[in-house]
This record gives sequence, C-alpha cells and structure tokens, in this order.
Amino acid sequence: MQSTALTARRRRRELDELTAETVDLLVVGGGVTGTGVALDAAARGLSVALVEAHDLAWGTSRWSSKLAHGGLRYLATGDVGVARESARERHVLMTRTAPHLVRALPQVLPLTPGTGRRRGLTVGIGFGLGDLLRRDAGTSSLVLPGPRLARPGEVARLVPAVARERLHGAWIAHDGQLVDDARLVVALARTAAGRGAKILTRVRAVDLRADGATLEDALTGATLTVRARVVVNATGVWAGTVDPSVRLRPSRGTHVVVPAARLGSPTGALMVPVPGSGSRYVFALPGQLGRVVIGLTDEEAPGPVPDVPVATQAEIDFLLETVSGVLARPLLPDDVVGTFAGLRPLVDTAGSSDGPSADVSRKHLVEVSPSTGAVNVLGGKLTTYRTMAEDAVDLAVKHAGLTAGPCWTTALPLVGAPPLVGPGGTGVSTSSTSGTGSTSGTGGGLPDSLVARYGNEAAEVLAAAVLPGSASAVGQGIAGTAHLDITRAEIEWAATHEGALDADDVLDRRTRIGLVPADRAAVRDVVEELVADALKWL
Ligand SMILES: Cc1cc2nc3c(=O)[nH]c(=O)nc-3n(C[C@H](O)[C@H](O)[C@H](O)COP(=O)(O)OP(=O)(O)OC[C@H]3O[C@@H](n4cnc5c(N)ncnc54)[C@H](O)[C@@H]3O)c2cc1C
Repeated sequence: MQSTALTARRRRRELDELTAETVDLLVVGGGVTGTGVALDAAARGLSVALVEAHDLAWGTSRWSSKLAHGGLRYLATGDVGVARESARERHVLMTRTAPHLVRALPQVLPLTPGTGRRRGLTVGIGFGLGDLLRRDAGTSSLVLPGPRLARPGEVARLVPAVARERLHGAWIAHDGQLVDDARLVVALARTAAGRGAKILTRVRAVDLRADGATLEDALTGATLTVRARVVVNATGVWAGTVDPSVRLRPSRGTHVVVPAARLGSPTGALMVPVPGSGSRYVFALPGQLGRVVIGLTDEEAPGPVPDVPVATQAEIDFLLETVSGVLARPLLPDDVVGTFAGLRPLVDTAGSSDGPSADVSRKHLVEVSPSTGAVNVLGGKLTTYRTMAEDAVDLAVKHAGLTAGPCWTTALPLVGAPPLVGPGGTGVSTSSTSGTGSTSGTGGGLPDSLVARYGNEAAEVLAAAVLPGSASAVGQGIAGTAHLDITRAEIEWAATHEGALDADDVLDRRTRIGLVPADRAAVRDVVEELVADALKWL
C-alpha cells in the first residue's frame, strides 16, 4: 500500500515518471466515473495513471443532487434493470464502501386535497415498489427505513416551512444522500492512489490513441506523450471532444440554493410533484453548511459543451414556483443565494433523440471506440459509478489482453470508511495510510460536521494541521459566515492530502463554500493564505 495523500510534489514526481514507463491503463477524466475506473483497475493489480484536465470533480460529478438513488425513478420509466442496479449500488455505498459519506434521508411528499387521490395512491405504490428494490438489494430497514404515511405534526417537524392548512399528512420514504458528491470523487481518487494509481490533475489529453495519449500539463505548458496498454475515456459530457464517434445528448439539470433557515432548517427533503408530469418531482434537499438545495430541471442542452454550465432564469423561476406551491410562505427570488447547473452525459442511442431528455435511459455505455481504439465509458449515474468502472475495466482487460484479478471493489472501503470485518476478523481498510500517522477513529468530541465529511479520518484532519488556529472556523471573525462549519484544518488538509493545488480547488471542490458566491467572497482571502502557506512545504 502507498500513501493516499495527494500533493503537488507527488503530482510532479509521478508526471515525470509517466513519460518513462508504459502503464497498463490510462484513464482520461477525473469525475466519479474516471476515479472509479482508476480504483477498480489499481485494486486488480494493474498499473494506472489518471489524467484530469482541470481538477478532481471539475465536471458533472460536482453538480449532482448528491443522492445515492434507490432507482425508483427508473422504475417509472420502465428501466427495471437500471433501477435494481441503482438500489444495489446504493446498498454497497451505504453499508460497505462509503457509509461515512452517505446518510439515510427522509423524503416527505405532503398530501393535500390538491395532491389528488390518484397521485397519492400512485406515490404510495411507487414507494412500495421502491421498498421492494431496497429488500432485493439486501438493505436493512435499520439502514433505510421503509415507506409509511405520516401525520401533519411529523411533516412539520421534518420540513417546518410546509403549509399546515389543508395538510392531511404525507408519504415518507428514505433514500441515500451524500454529504457531497465532490468528496466522493476525492475519496475514490485517494483510495486509488493508495493502491498505486497516479492521479494527475491539470493534465489534459489532447489526442487519444489505443496505445496512449498526447497530454498537456496546464501548469507548465509542456506536452508529453504517454504509452499505455489500454486507454479508458471517462470524459463524460466532453467525450465527443476527444472522440468524434461519440454521440451524446446532454441534458441540463439546474438547482438553486437557499438558506436552510428560510425553510425552517428542515431535516427531511421535501418532494413536490411537477404539475402535468406523472413521474417528475422537485426536491428541496437539506445539505451541509446551512443550505437547502432545490432541484431539478431536465432541459435539452444542444451545442458546444461549456466548461461550467449556467442556470437559466426560466429554470430558477420554475423551481421556486413549484416548491412554493406547498409552502406556507412562497420562496422569492431574493431568497436565492446561489444556483448551479450540470449536464447529464446521456448516451444518444438509436431512437432516443425523439422524446424528451427526461425519458432518455440512464443506462451506461461501455464500448471500444471505432475511432480512437480507447474504451469509452459514458452515461450512467453517480450512484452506479462502481458497476460502470467494473464493466469498463473488464472490457479494457479483455481488449488489451492484460492479466488482472477479478473486480473486488464491493469489498473495498474508501478512505475514511470504517474497515470491513472479514470472516477471520481481518479488516479491509484504506484509512490509515494517509501519510501522516495513524487514524484515531470517529467520535471523541469531534464536531459532527467534520465526521460527516471525513469519517474515520476526522481526528487525523485536526491532528495533522500545523498552521495556527487549525480548530477554528475558516470564517472566524468574518461577519455572516457562522453557518460555514469548516475548520482551517480542513483547508490545510485539502492541500496536504486531497490534491488541491490552489484556493479555487478548495473553495469549489474540496469544500463547497463556492456554491454560494457571497460565502466564497467572504472567506476567499483566508483560504488563499492558508493554501499558499500549506503549499510552501509541498
Ligand atoms: C444536475 C444533475 C443532477 C444529478 N444528480 C444525480 C444524483 O443525485 N445521483 C446520481 O446518482 N446521479 C446524478 N446525476 C448524474 C451524475 O452526476 C453523472 O452521471 C456523473 O457525475 C457523471 O460523471 P463522469 O465522471 O462520467 O463525468 P464528469 O464528472 O463530467 O467527469 C468528466 C471529467 O473529464 C474531464 N475531462 C474532459 N475532457 C478531458 C480531457 N480532454 N482530458 C482530461 N480530462 C478531461 C472533465 O474536466 C471532467 O472532470 C446528476 C446529473 C446532473 C447533471
């Protein structure tokens, strides 16, 4: 096992080494799919390098709704296979690989005379089917409680801002919620690094071939040629820019961010049916840092793929209006403190270009590209990254005639997860190899927010910090930042262990301070200073 710490120095060294060797597998793209592929391949004993043009989780993987879905939505569109796969992968995440990053989230669908008997019944049947998926996946009701009807009082406790007038009660069902999607990607990348994968950010693949790629180092401007026995293209919605044979049908999903206090600091998610649709809902999801995130739209997004997609005013209005339909006090444009949008990398299969993008299958595609000879792995979802990775590595191994062990990532906890106890009492863990000493475990008076983000590594995040004031909040002494429960130690850890190369990486991907521009502006100087100090030694 190697260190799981990603640093600027390690990046420089490994980039140098890469030019002198032939790796078994080169992964292009550092989202959830690419980092999942890197981990799967490294765990099978292959030599692996991953290149990411910008930063880990730069792309769609940081713009998700952060749900580990049970697949209910896919049942509604008839994708039973996708629905079952989703529920099984949710189970793996919540019980084995990343239980520290995924929690059970109660979802509340208020029932009023306006809901209609038919909709109320359909939702009940849907939740019942969703529960069958949970049982089929083997997920205990202690991990994810089954669906039930709730009284108005309970609705008010979970989501205080719901209008009580004419409220009969609600359906409540549970799904998995990630503390943050970008943190899952970083955990995957570090776990892969612990098994020897080279994780190289700010490195763009400009030309893909079956036996390697031409790369550009954004930090030096240097061009380098890399040899690989097989290449995996995991560039998501940008896949067409490196492979002309890829046909994607991007669909934009937008969220707005409001202060949690505006909805009475809910602990459950609010689910509001989209008028006129039998299967779509708008969700108000309570998240970290005192925020509620409201989504989701599904809009065709043809044309060139932007680096960072932007929400439209029409989408923002639609989300506020739909949620306000069940609130005691409607949300107003002034309540919005941030917005974000991402593009789903939906695969344009024969016949899929006729209907709305919301109906396009979320199945993933794994194929050898007729144009580059690389293995393309596209589509899918955050929840199913692991099976996508398994399929991609299976095909890559076969295609290149490599010798590799079988996939075993269902039993491989990510950094920060508690070890799995095997039959002989042996633990499988990656959390004690971060390069700065042993892990102290969770609890022990540590802040809940720290444990929610770092799991078993929480104590080490604090212990490893050497800069002054490490336990204090990043915004200490700065007005209007009390809701940012992020310590200065976490900023330092991002640079010393999580591969952050500048303040933007920290603000926008290691922490999600940047989802609210005012928060970002308030602590930017402090974060810049901390990152500059931490990088001095790296
Ligand atoms: C709005 C929205 C909400 C969603 N919500 C959920 C949800 O709640 N649950 C769920 O399971 N799924 C959800 N999804 C789906 C999920 O987010 C995506 O399927 C997943 O994140 C795609 O990951 P990826 O790694 O394939 O792509 P990306 O995350 O986009 O990664 C591709 C990476 O490749 C890099 N790259 C591109 N070109 C190059 C190049 N030439 N060289 C090197 N690197 C390159 C990019 O910078 C990028 O980082 C949602 C999607 C959207 C859009």
